[in-house]
Order: sequence, then structure tokens, then C-alpha cells
Amino acid sequence: MKNQITSVSSVSLADYIPIAALNQYTYCPHRCWRMFCAGEFIHNQYTIEGTSLHDRVHTVGEGNREEIWQIRAIWLKSEQYKLIGKADLIEAEKDEWYPVEYKRGRKGEWDNDELQVCAQALCLEEMTGQSVSSGYIYYAHSHQRQLVEITDELRQSAIATIEAVQTLLFTGAMPKPVKTKRCDGCSLYSSCLPQAGEKLGRYQEAS
Ligand code: SF4
Repeated sequence: MKNQITSVSSVSLADYIPIAALNQYTYCPHRCWRMFCAGEFIHNQYTIEGTSLHDRVHTVGEGNREEIWQIRAIWLKSEQYKLIGKADLIEAEKDEWYPVEYKRGRKGEWDNDELQVCAQALCLEEMTGQSVSSGYIYYAHSHQRQLVEITDELRQSAIATIEAVQTLLFTGAMPKPVKTKRCDGCSLYSSCLPQAGEKLGRYQEAS
């Protein structure tokens, strides 16, 4: 079964969108621009917890859990959507493949994790030639898996976000920072200062 996943090697990363960029874009397009166009990233409590969780998950390779075949830290890619990213865990059970994405904490208000799982499913479908109808998000705080159904609606949402991120990365055009509640948990807040940007914009319009 594992041979059905074609290997991701000799890939020119410049031609592909990181799956992680989709998450960032849905959180805040300006943050996505800062991270993937301006190359800026600053850790905060949340990103450090998330990174250390992924580091732990990514230390293990292949294995079996009862009747389920598992592989961790595998690169996924899609030629059709020009996507690339490392999956935390891929499982196969009764000839059905599905991705499992690990997240710190519990399901939150600003979740865009389903989109990430859907993007992984799109890659997995292309790499295995089989349809992927579901995936899971594992929340470390509650130690529970949440089922993600890969519906047509979720697929369309993921594809629309892929196209928006492609445009962002291709043009490099900076979306304006917009102050929202999400800014409170954003690690880029001190360098972004969204309120200052809004004030400056109003000042420039008035002058
Ligand atoms: S502080 Fe707010 S506007 Fe600025 S990058 Fe973060 S979420 Fe976006």
C-alpha cells in the first residue's frame, strides 16, 4: 500500500504554494503576505507551542496501529494545484487514505484547519489516484480527533483560497492590515501595528 504514494523529490519549491500559506491567508491576508512575501516571522507563545508539537509528531516514521498503516512527516504535493507541504500523519485503513493534522489546544473560534486538511486531501488524491473523503484534526489539549468531511463545499473553498494565495505570491501585492480580534493572538502584532496603519491611511486620504 505504501508504494502507492509517489515520492516528492527534486521539487523546485519556488513553483509551489506551501499548504501552510492557505491557513495563514484565511487567518489574515496581510499576515500571509508578511510571512511568505516579506519573509517575516516572529514566534509567540502559540506558535512556539504549535512548532514543538509538530516537531514531536515529525520524529516518528512509518508504523502500524492495529489494522491501520501510518506514516508521519511525509511530503505531499499536487501538480494540479501547485501545492506542497509536510503532513503530520497519513493513515490508510481498508484501502482508504486520509490525513491527520495535529493542532495544539482545542478547537478555536478562528479555525481554518479544515481547509488545511482538505488541501492535504487534494494532494493525497493526486499522489494515490484514489479519492479521499475524510481527514482528521487531532487536538493535543483534548486528545481528541475531529472528523473533517471533504465535502464539495470545502473543496471549493480550498480551491478558491489556493487561487487567492497564488495571486498574492505571484504579484507580491500587499493586502492592507485590518485590525480584528485575530490581531490579539498574532505573533506579528508588534511589527504590524494594524491600528497605526489604519490611522496613517486615513491621514493620507484626508491630506
Ligand atoms: S496584527 Fe492583525 S492585521 Fe497585522 S498581520 Fe496580525 S492579524 Fe494581520
